[in-house]
Amino acid sequence: DQSIPSDYEIAQSVETNHIVDVVEPFGLTEADLKLVGETKAKVELEAIERVREERDANGKTILVTGMTPTPLGEGKTVTTVGLGQALNQVGKEALVAVREPSLGPVFGVKGGAAGGGYSQVLPMEDINLHFTGDLHALTSAHNLIATMLDNHIKQGNELDIAVNWINWPRAIDMNDRVLRETVVGLGGEVTGVPREDGFILTAASELMAVLCLADGIDDLKERIGRIIVAYNEDGEPITADDIGATDAAAILLKDALKPNVVQTIEGTPAFVHGGPFANIAHGTNSLIADEVAAHLSEYLVTEAGFGSDLGAEKFMNIVSRFGDVEPDAVTIVASVRALKYHGQDMWPPDVDALEDEDVDAVYDGLANLDKHVRNLEQFGVPVVVAVNRFPQDTDAEIEAVIDHCEEDLGVPAAESTVFADGGEGGIDLAEKLIDAAESESSFEPLYDLEAPIDEKIETVATEIYGADGVEFHSDARADIERLTDLGFDDVPICISKTFHSLSDDASQKGVPEDWTLEINEIYPSAGAGFLVVLTADVLTLPGLPSEPAAANMELRSDGSISGLF
Ligand code: ADP
Ligand code: MG
Repeated sequence: DQSIPSDYEIAQSVETNHIVDVVEPFGLTEADLKLVGETKAKVELEAIERVREERDANGKTILVTGMTPTPLGEGKTVTTVGLGQALNQVGKEALVAVREPSLGPVFGVKGGAAGGGYSQVLPMEDINLHFTGDLHALTSAHNLIATMLDNHIKQGNELDIAVNWINWPRAIDMNDRVLRETVVGLGGEVTGVPREDGFILTAASELMAVLCLADGIDDLKERIGRIIVAYNEDGEPITADDIGATDAAAILLKDALKPNVVQTIEGTPAFVHGGPFANIAHGTNSLIADEVAAHLSEYLVTEAGFGSDLGAEKFMNIVSRFGDVEPDAVTIVASVRALKYHGQDMWPPDVDALEDEDVDAVYDGLANLDKHVRNLEQFGVPVVVAVNRFPQDTDAEIEAVIDHCEEDLGVPAAESTVFADGGEGGIDLAEKLIDAAESESSFEPLYDLEAPIDEKIETVATEIYGADGVEFHSDARADIERLTDLGFDDVPICISKTFHSLSDDASQKGVPEDWTLEINEIYPSAGAGFLVVLTADVLTLPGLPSEPAAANMELRSDGSISGLF
């Protein structure tokens, strides 16, 4: 429907309320907030403590995830925001929690990450740009640790740090691929010790994962202190604490730890806080935001990155063990275009063909959605499918999906038009999710923490990804032995895998069969508290595409912006 204005135009046309008025009905007052202008605030940690003590965490948590997406995204953020609005429309107190955008993607391929249409968080331009400075604080804290590490080596290297075994690169919040691999310390004796180094995106820093899992300042400090930044010549871990960086890094993060609160287009309070990767990290907004929301409202709607195989699996197996945030219901966002994409038997995909009505292609793609439904049911949580309607979708295509879910799979499904209609477009979905969340559920993570490392990996590979088994390359075997000796074996595992496929091969659509998951490396994110399992090289510093979003942006004389979507 060409008549829907752009996200930015919609955002500009809405009257926002003062943030104090937005959160007041949920039990927060002006004194609880650190205001950043009139529409953004951070929630003070004292207020969080008070809320934790005074009010039970009775709120139900709805987790939003998706089927395997097309490269365009299928609308998880849009659905999360719209569902929060819809729940308020049907008389439930509901809050939304989503990740905060990183500048890398904003100027690259994907554009903004503040929802879209009539389901956005506002002020979208601030949220997509510098917002409340959390990403800048993280970049500074990350680079402070890197600076102190190199300084330690330059000042005599008392800890005997192995210069070739440093695990703490530099960080930058920009998709600047030429910095991926660098040499530092050139310039002779006065400058330092030359060595190979590199940059990662700030969102990929372990500090981002730490910030998103810490429940307060003490926990933040403990987690930072545990981060392994290097190994010494004997192969023993050197931590941030060993180089004396813990408190200084925590000082730089003390405000970033406070969750940001803004509002959706319909005035629903939305926490927008933290944004870790969903492959080498757990991929959900901060736990502190989720927890405070669960104390403040009847419903929290929160988004997990990518599909059930990545962000949702990690929410269930990692995040839920660190905090008090069990999901009471999950909704899987499906789109007609993603179903057709999985129904196409070709690589590279024919993206233009996804625009035309093709009910048979939708049927052919349903197996991927089915697998995501079955994956989530394994955790004992009720599942509802949300069919996110795009303008070009036809009634026949939408009905094909809903009938299949209800009749063949036996799971409730609802069409969602929250992009075009705001909360009203999500009422059917909201009602189905309320029924689901209020029904008996028996949530349980998929593996025991005490299981051996390889067994935990095999469980996720076979039960969630659909692999026949796992092949550990020799380095990975050695990593498992070393980590077990170091006592890092009784923690959750965080598998880094492509999000383009249920398998480890991005070109395999649908439900790949007859394949083995190959593991190359395993390393500890000791501060975050999990082991990262690499299936292939991960791009921790992406680059810009041939036509970056940045090239089509405009700043007008009156300060307004175009091209930021
Ligand atoms: P995800 O969180 O799953 O990556 P988003 O919610 O960010 O996906 O949506 C991806 C892109 O598609 C965004 O640009 C969003 O505005 C757009 N979009 C999502 N749902 C719709 C819809 N129903 N109609 C039109 N555009 C949509
Ligand atoms: Mg999203």
